[in-house]
Amino acid sequence: MSKIPLETPLRELHGVGPRFVSKLSKLGIHTVRDLLWHFPSRYEDWSKVAKISELKAGDAFTVRARVAEIGVKRAWKRRMLIVEALLEDDSGSIQATWFNQPYIKNVLKPGTIASFAGKVALRKNKLYLSSPTYELNAGDSSKHTGRLVPIYPETKGLTSKGLRFLTQPILESVEPVKEFLPEKVLEEHNLPEVNEALHMVHFPDKLSEAQDARRRFAFEDLFLLHLNNIILRLALFKKSSPKIDAPAHRVKEIVSGLPFELTASQKETLDEILDDMAESHPMNRLLQGDVGSGKTIIAGIAALIAAEQEFQVALMAPTEILARQHYKTVLKFFGETNKGVGLLISKEARVHYGNSLEEAVAKPALIKELSANRIKILVGTHALIQKSVKFDNLGLIIIDEQHRFGVAQRGALADKKGKLPHFLSMSATPIPRTLMMTVFGDLDVSLIKELPKGRKPIITKIIAPENRNKAYGFIKGQVQRGRQAFVICPRIDPSEGDSLLTAEETKKLEMKSVKEEHEKLSKRFFPDFKVAMLHGKMASKEKEETMKEFAAGRIDILVSTSVIEVGIDVPNATIMMIESADRFGLAQLYQFRGRVGRGEHQSFCFLFAESGSGTSYKRLNSLLTAKNGFELAEKDLAIRGPGEFLGEEQAGMPDIAMKSLNNLELVKDTRKAAEETLKASPSLRDFPELKKRINAFSKEIHLE
Ligand code: ADP
Ligand code: MG
Repeated sequence: MSKIPLETPLRELHGVGPRFVSKLSKLGIHTVRDLLWHFPSRYEDWSKVAKISELKAGDAFTVRARVAEIGVKRAWKRRMLIVEALLEDDSGSIQATWFNQPYIKNVLKPGTIASFAGKVALRKNKLYLSSPTYELNAGDSSKHTGRLVPIYPETKGLTSKGLRFLTQPILESVEPVKEFLPEKVLEEHNLPEVNEALHMVHFPDKLSEAQDARRRFAFEDLFLLHLNNIILRLALFKKSSPKIDAPAHRVKEIVSGLPFELTASQKETLDEILDDMAESHPMNRLLQGDVGSGKTIIAGIAALIAAEQEFQVALMAPTEILARQHYKTVLKFFGETNKGVGLLISKEARVHYGNSLEEAVAKPALIKELSANRIKILVGTHALIQKSVKFDNLGLIIIDEQHRFGVAQRGALADKKGKLPHFLSMSATPIPRTLMMTVFGDLDVSLIKELPKGRKPIITKIIAPENRNKAYGFIKGQVQRGRQAFVICPRIDPSEGDSLLTAEETKKLEMKSVKEEHEKLSKRFFPDFKVAMLHGKMASKEKEETMKEFAAGRIDILVSTSVIEVGIDVPNATIMMIESADRFGLAQLYQFRGRVGRGEHQSFCFLFAESGSGTSYKRLNSLLTAKNGFELAEKDLAIRGPGEFLGEEQAGMPDIAMKSLNNLELVKDTRKAAEETLKASPSLRDFPELKKRINAFSKEIHLE
């Protein structure tokens, strides 16, 4: 019999009906390959085969028995159908029950002999089998009973049993999968070959087999991730970029002209960046540092150097508010230098030349100035790199709070001679080491390790509900002294309430909303203060205006959603109050807190948690005890998984790889394997299957 090709759509297989197919597609399973790569989430151990007389409550068993009686009854109170059967073997008899599966009565007719596997429970002093799985023809190739049985991620109407029913015969009749991991790698790392691993992951004889198989699949994903990174790096290394030399005396001059002294880390990172820019291949660097560590000034110096060497610089921020702030920073520090600086955001364009006044201009005028190379540093949102905006010779791209820059995007910005601009990104998100090595492994990293001298640590407190009014009292005192406060809520509108939930449940689920809190604070608690709100549903003009007013000190208390999360610098704000803090990730809370503590005054962060559960308290408490953002990030990674950092639907990242991103050991092993493989065969010519796979992989994942 010919073997089934891996890419066969399941609907073309005999015995897979259309209803089955549509349910499978709900799980994202369309082809034979998808099905085989739909791995069990766990296993039931039903390997203990016993006689009925040997069964004990609380344990799981498989028994081979005859159906003596079977019937359906209705439990009126719970509106449920219960199938009850009496099973017997030569040692005794036991009752079995199933809920809401009346069809079982038609399958297990009296006299039927089958294997039954499940948990033995005790009711009214009598043992019974609770919803056992049954298998009529369990012989050597049993799949549901008498063994370790795979339990899969299920969907409505598609049970693990159904999936096993489908998967097992396919495993036997599918064409062999081509192994793409080099033999040497398999050997050195003790990994099962792929076809073997597939059997082991679905139908292991021992749990250790399943673990070995999982390790292999995690290994292969991480291996590919590393390989992809290294290949990207090498490819970029071969591209050319403008050499931007930084005259040492000039750098010194700029640095000593600043109103503060750079921290040691700032100096180091600046050197790393300038060294990279002086190379004739593109920089691909991430500048990482805690909130408030002073990344902007470092990027600003790099920008100024490039501008003075007659190259253009695009400085991009994720929001218009931040773009404005960066524009101001550049003008504040470097406005006097004789280089054109521009701001371009959706409806506004501004320019400033060394000795003229800063002024609003029409957008087309700015674009003309830019293409004539009279504007050297252009600040804005991502709109900067739209087609209509033409740089004359862009030498450096700086992006705030975005980690990566697409290869294609970058290519589109190449100059006339095909030279690619250097790329620098900045991030205050502390990225755990394992993620840095894998997901961001194509980037070089510069790290600002310390905060500028003289910053006072932010006093952080978890506030019990009964102390809420005290906290408000405290805020009042601060505002009366001229300080400002943020109040962060996880949502904009009050909850509608869900009719299916009990009042108690709704209360528990209730998260604070911006609108409610704004109402409450402005009317009830602080009628004498100026309280405003900020959230994503407001028009961008309105948001902009509000933020401007807050920065100027004309708003005392700003009630906001997470839109203020990144980059905002308002040194006079000293209070960060976070409502329903348990709703946010640790890394995110850390970011919020970083919005205060930026000036000379002592700052405070108050955390309110509605749930009050022990675990949420413990989690919040780590914000008080962690020494730095990295420690928190590692914790977050362990608790919440990589989704927190990468976004829940991280494009194309295989589930098993996501999970293994916690495993430093494996991350290191796979990296070494990837490096050695490329060393042995730089173009992967010796590993054609691997080459095919990595090409497909690099298309699957898009991590920008
Ligand atoms: P972030 O790294 O979060 O982007 P910023 O660049 O916004 O931080 O810097 C925060 C504040 O610290 C700014 O007001 C900036 O001018 C100031 N700053 C930067 N470097 C230093 C330094 N070495 N000493 C004192 N203040 C500094
Ligand atoms: Mg910043």
